[in-house]
Amino acid sequence: MTSTKFTDLPLVAPLQFALKETGYETPTPIQLAAIPIILEGHDLLGIAQTGTGKTAAFCLPLLQNLAKNHKRLESKCPRALILTPTRELAIQIHKSLETYGSHLKLKHAVIFGGVGQGPQVKALQAGVDILVATPGRLLDLIEQKYLRLDKIEAFILDEADRMLDMGFMPDIKRILPMLPKKTHNLFFSATMPSEIQKLAQSILNNPKKVEVTPVATTAEKIVQSVYFVEKKEKLNLLLHLLKSNELFKVLVFVEMKHGANRVVEKLEKNRVLAAAIHGDKSQNARQRAIEDFRNDKIRVLVATDIASRGIDIDGITHVINLELPHLPENYVHRIGRTARAGAEGIAISFCTAEEKSYLFAIEKTTRQKIEVVTDQPYHAAEVEKAAVVSVGKAKAAIEAARKSGGGRRPPRGGRPQGGGGGGAGGPGKKSGGSKRRFGFQKNKSK
Ligand code: AMP
Repeated sequence: MTSTKFTDLPLVAPLQFALKETGYETPTPIQLAAIPIILEGHDLLGIAQTGTGKTAAFCLPLLQNLAKNHKRLESKCPRALILTPTRELAIQIHKSLETYGSHLKLKHAVIFGGVGQGPQVKALQAGVDILVATPGRLLDLIEQKYLRLDKIEAFILDEADRMLDMGFMPDIKRILPMLPKKTHNLFFSATMPSEIQKLAQSILNNPKKVEVTPVATTAEKIVQSVYFVEKKEKLNLLLHLLKSNELFKVLVFVEMKHGANRVVEKLEKNRVLAAAIHGDKSQNARQRAIEDFRNDKIRVLVATDIASRGIDIDGITHVINLELPHLPENYVHRIGRTARAGAEGIAISFCTAEEKSYLFAIEKTTRQKIEVVTDQPYHAAEVEKAAVVSVGKAKAAIEAARKSGGGRRPPRGGRPQGGGGGGAGGPGKKSGGSKRRFGFQKNKSK
């Protein structure tokens, strides 16, 4: 954070009012850097992950630019397009636009798959200034002629690397040629693998680059620790940790969808209120789980990796990696769900012998040693002593164990669905607070 205030930035009064109402005074580094660049009309390459305040960094100047150049709305022809990989992120960005734009007369809509298209089509027909969309539904509605992109003035591609991970690159390549030749382009990605670099080059015109919190830097305010444990004891260790009321709002990460369900079953049996979000859950079920978590109706939200980018919920006290991710970036993204916007957070990782190579890869990338907690009932000295194998070998061993022991793996769905979970939220004020802090153990599960 800096000492410059939002009031020092050249943002118009309606936005200043909205920021004041939201309670934001000080821009985050990406906001400070990106807002003037976007206001001046430059293309921008923003290297930033969620949690840095990037949504406001592009929403505020976008709203201002469009408001300054007010135009009559044309049915089916939005003026700005924000393309984002997950439904949850789309909803969250839309909420942010509504909040920041509450004193402006611009219209916004959000479209994503997994729900009926009727209301979305209606909104598009009425005309919108800014459209937030996931790629699949966008293309569906274009094909059905409910939407055209030839009047787009500003194009924002958010979480480009996540788009790549989720298999959206072909969709993006279909969408790009539908945009007018000259648009104001903003491109955000947490990481810049070569394919994403190429994509950025193909979209951006002489861009200014803003980079904050490189992926190798783990959020400083997160206290991280690792617990060596045998695989079969992981759920017992989780239950043991949950005996402490300090673990008030806990986000648990697992690698597989069916694993998430199993964790929830176990927690509920032990009277811990929990829900899972992953790609096999309906959009409504996911939204409900996220809202229940936000409002402290459940204590634990169990998520698969894809969810880690979208979740924007204040007050997550702990992130627990029940399974370590094999990609260090995912570790950084996961634990970034706690310690949002300057708060402090705690990240705990459970690690088996096989996962030690993931742990070392994470430590190498983050350039931080993660403290080992041995004072716990399920500490496995064997695991602590176990040799570290290569990440490739570890991955093969973990996958083989999953296939043999993990059982019940549901069939894979085909095409990416625009999100496997994640949180809606937007920039609202703190949720919940700690009023129900000691109530969880008493409440029976659903
Ligand atoms: P984002 O990186 O856009 O997902 O934002 C991360 C979180 O920080 C969200 O909960 C925002 O509402 C919040 N946030 C964004 N900008 C600010 C700010 N300038 N001051 C305080 N909180 C902020």
